[in-house]
Amino acid sequence: MAEEQYDWAALGIDVTKPSIARTYDVVLRGKDNFEVDRAFVAEIVKIIPEIYDVATYNREILGRGVRYLAGEAGLRQFLDLGSGLPTVQNTHQVAQATAPGSRVVYVDNDPIVLAHGRALLAENASTTVVTADIREPEKILAHEEVRRLIDFDQPVGVMLVGILHHLHDDEGPQRIVETLMDAVPSGSHLFVTAFCASSQEAVDAEAQYQGLLGTGRFRTPEEITRYFGGLELLEPGLVPLPLWRPDGAVPDELSVGQRLMYGGIARKP
Ligand code: SAM
Repeated sequence: MAEEQYDWAALGIDVTKPSIARTYDVVLRGKDNFEVDRAFVAEIVKIIPEIYDVATYNREILGRGVRYLAGEAGLRQFLDLGSGLPTVQNTHQVAQATAPGSRVVYVDNDPIVLAHGRALLAENASTTVVTADIREPEKILAHEEVRRLIDFDQPVGVMLVGILHHLHDDEGPQRIVETLMDAVPSGSHLFVTAFCASSQEAVDAEAQYQGLLGTGRFRTPEEITRYFGGLELLEPGLVPLPLWRPDGAVPDELSVGQRLMYGGIARKP
């Protein structure tokens, strides 16, 4: 995207600082990013040369997870929090291919997601995009658009895929997860993927993320597992992304990039 193409500031989009959504778009080889975002990724590549693959692993588990939730688990409604810019195999496409009519609410606090999401979703009555901040979960739960598509008497797929590591400890990620899961009935599921402090490279990357992007907390598997407290963590538990119900063979030994993020799904009893 060209910085001078639109009046980005009028849309609430700051092209002088990297944004989480746009830097993720860079590693997914998308086009909705600016020079400042590409410069950030260039620094991360120096520490984690596989960072582009990590984004792919995350999109792949998102696909496998949503297929499971809309298929075997029988869910028909999804709250996808920190949904990111539209890319390929978005949640609504995977869910609706598995269970036509599935309803999806995308939530993101970056206005660029709404700007691009609207175009993609204009013709899909079962899907909507809301600009909101998960640090205010009560507002999301009360939001008109969320209430229009999500029936809180029926099980919900609560997706926090690739987002909780963008919350600082003092922003209370645990409380946010609990507030969301308290609002949904038995049979709902929580789907989490997050950066994990699984190598020295991960620890080094955390310093770069914090310094250049302002967020990016690489938590231990024990810390990430705590999000699933009170829920039934489904097999195979919280694992490096490529190990969660893989479609094909997985290598015996995982690389730094393959271990950089962990993920899992749990069911509310
Ligand atoms: N969930 C998608 C996936 O896994 O492919 C996108 C993940 S992307 C790495 C993280 C997204 O979370 C970004 O689009 C970012 O704007 C959004 N985000 C970060 N902090 C947020 C917050 N406090 N509230 C809502 N969205 C947030």
